[in-house]
Amino acid sequence: MKTQAQLIKQFGNPEVSRLPFENKWMKVWIVPADIREAIPCMPAKIYLNRLIEVPLNMALRKLIALGLHTEIKTWDGCFNIRKKRGSSGISAHAFGIAVDINAATNPFRGAVTWSKPFLKVWRDTGWICGADWSAASRDGMHFQWERY
Ligand SMILES: [Zn+2]
Repeated sequence: MKTQAQLIKQFGNPEVSRLPFENKWMKVWIVPADIREAIPCMPAKIYLNRLIEVPLNMALRKLIALGLHTEIKTWDGCFNIRKKRGSSGISAHAFGIAVDINAATNPFRGAVTWSKPFLKVWRDTGWICGADWSAASRDGMHFQWERY
């Protein structure tokens, strides 16, 4: 996991200088029609850090190819300038490098309801799964991209 200092070094601090951060790193991804057909809860557009567009597309397509996409019931967001849950640190969502899915059934510090194959797809495509974190910070809804 990257430290907050490493993330700020790469992206700047979105809490302090939001507009320069957004202008440099954020983009609107038009979710492809075939993904939206397969996963009806996906929004038409996702405002995300441009570095996660390709890996998010890849993870979703691999889930669809394996028939695991049906586990996705709600899209619960990407970009959000806020602190981490249960911490004073800046959330990965403030950098636009994390997405939340099925929040209601995979709450912070709560149950993880994803199947093992579903989580394996995210790991195999390079994502960090909040489901893998220790009990105090477990966040099953949360998928984070740090490979840059
Ligand atoms: Zn999250």
